[in-house]
Amino acid sequence: MSGALDFTHDPAATSWVTSAQAQGCDFTQQNLPHGVFSRGAEAARGGVAIGDQVLDLAQVASLGLLAGLAQQACEAAAQGTLNAYMGMGQPAWRALRQGLFGLLSSSATEATRAALTPCLFPQSQVQMRLPVQVHNYTDFYTSLHHANNVGRVIRPDDPLTPNFKWLPIAYHGRASSVVTSGTAFHRPWGQAMAPGATAPVFGPCHRLDFELEMGFFVGPGNALGQPLPLAQARDQVFGMCLLNDWSARDHQFWEMAPLGPFLGKNFCTSISPWVVTMEALAPYRLPFERPAIDPQPLAYLDDAGDRAQGSLDIELEVVLQSRLHRERQLPGDRISATNFRHQYWTIGQMLAQHTVGGCNLQSGDLLGTGTISGPTAGEAGAIVELSQGGTRDVPLPTSGELRRFLEDGDRVILRGWCAKPGSARIGFGQCSGEVLPALPNLAS
Ligand code: CA
Repeated sequence: MSGALDFTHDPAATSWVTSAQAQGCDFTQQNLPHGVFSRGAEAARGGVAIGDQVLDLAQVASLGLLAGLAQQACEAAAQGTLNAYMGMGQPAWRALRQGLFGLLSSSATEATRAALTPCLFPQSQVQMRLPVQVHNYTDFYTSLHHANNVGRVIRPDDPLTPNFKWLPIAYHGRASSVVTSGTAFHRPWGQAMAPGATAPVFGPCHRLDFELEMGFFVGPGNALGQPLPLAQARDQVFGMCLLNDWSARDHQFWEMAPLGPFLGKNFCTSISPWVVTMEALAPYRLPFERPAIDPQPLAYLDDAGDRAQGSLDIELEVVLQSRLHRERQLPGDRISATNFRHQYWTIGQMLAQHTVGGCNLQSGDLLGTGTISGPTAGEAGAIVELSQGGTRDVPLPTSGELRRFLEDGDRVILRGWCAKPGSARIGFGQCSGEVLPALPNLAS
């Protein structure tokens, strides 16, 4: 079962790929996240990040350095999408992790290093692809603080919906517009109803927002009509990434009564390219705690293992880099920072809820956690919260600009990492995306 530590979590372990030991490196010897990359016109294939390099698993699979289940797993993880590898399940994931850990360890033989060196490419010289073919994408809504903050904008007298503390709510999102980090998109067009107006207007979004989220990927999945019990659900998750659920608030708030978000959410969702495995995150599991005055989860959403280890200690931050920042060669300003531990529901509870009615999840399905906002004002995971519904300025100190919503040329960069004494740093890299001007010709 996930959560057990082994030699791959030894904080003293190092790699002969020395950049893995660089200060603040996300991709340490203990991390080994999976992704899919290509070089020029070559076919996309699977790789593992180590330091500032990518280990080409297609080449590794051809070397014969791994055996048995680890070799089979390497062949699956070398494909142009990770769906089949995710479908193999935890024994295969662990076998490959342990095998690659040995190959990349400082204790590996000279012969191993010599064989693997041609399999390494600088990350700066490859193009990252979507790690999976996303057949289905569901986005949850599991931050109590986010729900209260946004609820106050929409329903000031009654911000929290009555269901929130009883079940992890979600909407079925749009898989086709999930893109990998670095992809720019055009400001969307749609309908919006201005306050006090009697008819909506059609035009470019005026209230464009980001949402700081994490995504997680389904492993083997479940058959139609056969729910995943919570006790098993957590082990069904392969790994996690950063996710930005770009949102057109003016379009969203007009269209989503009485149904869920539609055009307000379906124009672009960005994910980070490296999938950090639940195995790598094991040292950062935390107990799931529900305040005693709140309703306790119903039996199908409650499990001793999930209470003991269902939460995760992941630091998160949002950086906004405007066009002016880039002109002045500035890195941008951090506008929010929080931790995943504040979520009201666990990823295991999200999987159990998703399947309890019989819905089948498939290998590589993408599930978003919903916007991650912490308990204080500076921990809000969307600009609609930071600007209190667009009524307050969000300062960008280094450029001297102010924001209430996103402007053209703005680039939003999400980062996430785990760090604590006695454990190796495990980082997610980054998830970035840039807002391009609205396409000009839709008004006629
Ligand atoms: Ca969302």
